[in-house]
Amino acid sequence: MSILDKFAPLGQSYAQLRELGADPFAVTFDSMRSPVEATIDGRPVLVFGSNNYLGLTFDPRMVESGIEALRTYGAGTTGSRIANGTYLGHTSLEHKLAEFFGRRSAMVFTTGYQANLAMISTLAGRDDVLLLDADSHASIYDGSRLSAAQVIRFRHNDPDDLARRLRRLEGQPGDRLIVVEGIYSMLGDRARMAEIAQVKRETGATLLVDEAHSLGVLGANGRGAAEEAGVEDDADFVVGTFSKSLGGIGGFCVSNLPDFDILRVCCRPYMFTASLPPSVVATVQRGLERMVEQPELRQTLHRNAHRLYDGLSAAGFILGPEPGPIVSVRLPDVAVAATFWTALLQEGVYVNLALPPATPDSHPLLRTSVTAAHTDAQVDRAIATLTKIGAALGVLETNNG
Ligand code: PMP
Repeated sequence: MSILDKFAPLGQSYAQLRELGADPFAVTFDSMRSPVEATIDGRPVLVFGSNNYLGLTFDPRMVESGIEALRTYGAGTTGSRIANGTYLGHTSLEHKLAEFFGRRSAMVFTTGYQANLAMISTLAGRDDVLLLDADSHASIYDGSRLSAAQVIRFRHNDPDDLARRLRRLEGQPGDRLIVVEGIYSMLGDRARMAEIAQVKRETGATLLVDEAHSLGVLGANGRGAAEEAGVEDDADFVVGTFSKSLGGIGGFCVSNLPDFDILRVCCRPYMFTASLPPSVVATVQRGLERMVEQPELRQTLHRNAHRLYDGLSAAGFILGPEPGPIVSVRLPDVAVAATFWTALLQEGVYVNLALPPATPDSHPLLRTSVTAAHTDAQVDRAIATLTKIGAALGVLETNNG
């Protein structure tokens, strides 16, 4: 008997996965030769499963500013933001973020996960109601578990269902906080921001938008889905991460609410964890500048996204609803998905294997993603490799008649 016995069913599913030759949770990149080329077990792979949307991880200016900060400030801060963990870089990055989003205030967190955990658990108090999209990221669900508020899930990306559920709450005291994502992390679909913002306006709710996958990707200036839909004024809080388009790590929240800074002394996942190392902060700040200086990266990303989506769609794969940096291939069951994933890796293409319950509608997915750093030839190679294996496994729609 052991305290770990309760994980036995999970252990069995994991063992079955490994029997199929797939251990997606144990992939180790032994070298990264560029934002999209790596080696795994000494073999070269093309990386089509990252969140490095603008391909900035090797930007020389970002790397240099990180090295300089490492030399100047040392390896880490060894303390939280409200103790000894606030350095010039942290406040400077907050000013730059607020400026970029055209907002009054910004707060930087140690990860995007913690940004959601902090904002959601703190904003939604005991008498309030949280309205979460059913396909929300784990950090949003975990934030809601840490909150004392009532939690209501609405149908994925369905503003009518959201409005219906809000109407049912009429007369009940407390605030309502709606949480949506700009681009959803598994299927890559965009939030119906304009309609959601309208529901928010009509019901007097507060809106938090997690632009984790849409920062640097959507909107004329890369501010995300709210910018693209022209509803930034309705997004009371914008949360995001530095670990995707900005190629670093960390999270943030920006807002125009005048009393925003009070959150610094009541958000526990902000107060009780060490702050980001100054080298990361410097890298991210330079990344933000690089993103603004190079809007063409966004165009290249979208061109690559369309190329991958159109190629896989023409081959007969069942994909997520729209082209974007995340292109997910839907597969019938876990065994096929695991076999497919392993074969792809053997052919030198790395993608993410996403399995239920982490996927919408309990379908296993090969979650592929493109970056601005992929060449046409690399995208075409990924399409050809997926198509060859997909045909052999009989998962192309054309195979099914
Ligand atoms: N929000 C969403 C929608 C995400 O997909 C993720 C990470 N995959 C996060 C938040 C957390 O970001 P981080 O990796 O910076 O903790």
